[in-house]
Amino acid sequence: MAAIGSMVFCTDCGNLLPATKGTKKNLLQCECCGAWNKDTGSKTTLTKSKPSDFPSFLRQKLQSNVQAIERHNINTQTAAQERCPNCGREEVTYTAVQLRSADEGSTLIYNCKCGFSWNENN
Ligand SMILES: [Zn+2]
Ligand SMILES: [Zn+2]
Repeated sequence: MAAIGSMVFCTDCGNLLPATKGTKKNLLQCECCGAWNKDTGSKTTLTKSKPSDFPSFLRQKLQSNVQAIERHNINTQTAAQERCPNCGREEVTYTAVQLRSADEGSTLIYNCKCGFSWNENN
């Protein structure tokens, strides 16, 4: 019943225990700390370490976040001193949106409480 070649580790200190010496109770004494451990034999816990694809996943997530902002065009609205051409209200909000490339100036998208919105190129 000797589990030769199997690796058993001390549950107290993690030290590699010597191969079983065939004690009646199948116990192994740790040479490091002296603790008695059950000879678990070939019962080895394998930790599957699959290659982490987290970095690319994170990149994807960031990218989709940016796309979401572009899609909605409204992220953070700032109060603007502009008159709504639709209802004449002077309390409107605007959002600066970078369209296409950085070469082109940002576009201001104004939004009025009446539901009207319009663009203005910088
Ligand atoms: Zn130990
Ligand atoms: Zn309005």
